[in-house]
Parts: sequence; structure tokens; C-alpha cells
Amino acid sequence: MDYRTYLKNYPDENGKFGEYGGAILPPELVPAFEEITEAYETICNSAQFISELRRIRREFQGRPTPVYHCERLSRMLGRVQIYLKREDLNHTGAHKLNHCMGEGLLAKYMGKKKLIAETGAGQHGVALATAAAFFGLECEIHMGEVDIAKQAPNVTRMKILGAKVVPVSRGAATLKEAVDSAFEAYARDYKDAIYCIGSAVGPHPFPMMVRDFQMVVGQEAREQFLEMTGNLPDAICACVGGGSNSLGLFTPFLDDPVEIYGVEPMGRGKEVGEHAATITYGKKGTLHGFESYLLQDEAGEAAPVYSVASGLDYPSVGPEHAFLHDLGRVHYVTATDDETMEAFFKLSRYEGIIPAIESAHAIAYAMKYAKENKKGSILVNCSGRGDKDIDYVVEKYGYGEQYK
Ligand SMILES: *Cc1c(COP(=O)(O)O)cnc(C)c1O
Repeated sequence: MDYRTYLKNYPDENGKFGEYGGAILPPELVPAFEEITEAYETICNSAQFISELRRIRREFQGRPTPVYHCERLSRMLGRVQIYLKREDLNHTGAHKLNHCMGEGLLAKYMGKKKLIAETGAGQHGVALATAAAFFGLECEIHMGEVDIAKQAPNVTRMKILGAKVVPVSRGAATLKEAVDSAFEAYARDYKDAIYCIGSAVGPHPFPMMVRDFQMVVGQEAREQFLEMTGNLPDAICACVGGGSNSLGLFTPFLDDPVEIYGVEPMGRGKEVGEHAATITYGKKGTLHGFESYLLQDEAGEAAPVYSVASGLDYPSVGPEHAFLHDLGRVHYVTATDDETMEAFFKLSRYEGIIPAIESAHAIAYAMKYAKENKKGSILVNCSGRGDKDIDYVVEKYGYGEQYK
């Protein structure tokens, strides 16, 4: 099956990937999400929309990002050749801008005046504030007060870019409460505003839209890799938080004879609250308007999660990942905090690339793959750069002496 046939079938007309996904919404939001679905389905096939998005990617984002062969790292580990797709070189330093620019362009075509979203660590907020500035739209980012205190530089970036940051003080005052608050604001304002989710999660059509906008990563990488080496890679891998950078890389390879690995954060151990490996340890459940795998406590509520990478600590996962797992097409594996930090320092020292801690999970798995296999190649999505992480890393791990 060609991956384009796969795209036609999944999601189905109800926004389902097999038994996962859908749109479980309060009644007042049903028309708003239907409006977005309809607009997207019309616009995504329009030649004008496609060519405008292409121009933005080339001239504003700096795409295509390169594929890079990590020769020194590969040689140190054995015979497997490791390659990176350099999403860290995308404008604003991560893959998130790929879907934010798509969502912003959609908002513009729909005649909306404002973008509303939540953010946890602030990465999505910064990418969306960037898109809003580009398109001349208002931007309102809901953020837990705990996260505001922890992520001061990203709050500053959002404000410089002209966004309004709405502090959320209820409950634990982190990501989950910020989502609730952003949904409420959107329900009040949906005539003039559009909600822009931060990953391939949430109610239909967001998992589909975000995947489609991120697919440029895999399309470019597949072509670049073929051109560089004459072959496809033997394996590809990416870290899985909500699942957007991974679906972006994976989708164009679904029909190829390529092993695909999604890497989940194993944190400090397998006890509840010590990791965020949703597919590895979760079971079917509902959160934030869609069905997927969910890490649950005994009452069936979303369990507390932890990861050294704040962009990966979400108790659910994009519904398409749950589906691809059950199909057996994608293997879900894990990397611990310790394996991740070793990869963070090794990539920095051997290649001169400081990765985001999120991305370092994928690099950790590629390093494990390189040690376990005698030959072949693995293409890793380097989803973002690590500048945002350096203060935290040095405070907690020093300069990586223990990983030499
Ligand atoms: C947010 C983030 C992720 C995790 O999100 P996905 O939707 O799973 O891709 C990964 N890497 C970086 C650099 C991020 O900022």
C-alpha cells in the first residue's frame, strides 16, 4: 500500500485511526471543530494554499533542512551509519514551527483574527507566537503559573513576539490546566479565533492536520537520503511525546522496507510517575477529547508523568501512534534519562551539535541500535536544538564528565 493510499484511509470520516482518535467534545464546541475540519479539507487541496505554504517554508523557515551523516559518532560506536534530519535548524530551533505556520495560514484563510493555545514548557507557545507575528494575527497563550515560573526565557520570547500570556492558577497550574483554560477561552471566542494544538493530539481534525503539516520532514528526508546514499535507510527513529515530529518523519516511509522506531521517555524507572512511556505502559483511555493509549492511575484518571525532557511528559499520545502500534508497523522502544543525557553529551562532543533533550532520546536509541547491529544505517529526527536546555543540564549534570 502506497503511503498516499494510507493517508486517504486514515483517519476515516469520523476522525478515527482504527479504534483511536475521534472528537469527544462539549456540545458548544462541536460546530467550531466542524468548521475547522471543513475549512481544512477544502483548503489543503487548493493550489494557492499549497504554494503559499511552500514559499513560507523556503523563505521564512529556511527549509529544506539538511540530512547530515554523523561520521565521527558512527565510527566511535561501530559500523552502523547514523544520519540526522536537522529540524534543529528550522527557524525557532525545532520542528514545531512546521505545524504552527500551517495552522496560522489556515486561520488566515478562514478569516480568523486570533490564535489561541496552551503551552507547557513554552516551546509551542513560542512557535505559535512566531506564526501569529508573521501573519499579523493576535495570539493568546494559556500557561500554568508553575510553568511560567520555570520557563521564564520562553515567556519573555512570547511577549517580545507580541503574544498575550494568560497565567493559569487552578489545580496543579501546569499543562493539563492550561489546556482546560485554553479550551474555555476558545469556546467563548470561536467566531473570531482558532485553537492551535501543539502536537498530533486532541480532537479531530488536529491529529490529522498536524501530521499532514509535519510530513514535510519525512518527504524531504527520504529524498535527501536517497540522493546522498542511493538507498533508503535500514531504520528510522524519532522521539514520541504527543507524536508530531515522529509522525512527520515516519509517514512517508510507511510503505518502504524500513524499520521504524518511536522512542518513549523512560525517565527514572517504570514505577507510576517516574516516566511518560505511554504506549509501553498505558492502556486504552480518553483525555482531552480523543481516545488513545493513556497512562492511568487506579481510578482510570490520567496518571502523573515525568521526563527529563519537559516536551515529552504527556500521559497520552497521538491516536495514530496507538493505531500504528497495534498494526505492528512501528516499534515503540524507550530511552531512560541516563541514556538520553549520555547521547546529549556524545552528540555535542563528537559532532558539534547540541540537541534538545527531547531529541536526545531518539539519538540515544540510535546509539543503542548502532551497538547492537553489525551494519546498516539509521536516520534520526533531530527535532530541536538544545540551547533552551543548557542551564538545566549544567546545573544537574555538570559538563557531562560522567559520560566520557
Ligand atoms: C515539543 C517537542 C517534542 C515533542 O513533541 P512531539 O509532538 O512528540 O514531536 C520533541 N522535540 C522537541 C524539540 C520539542 O520541542
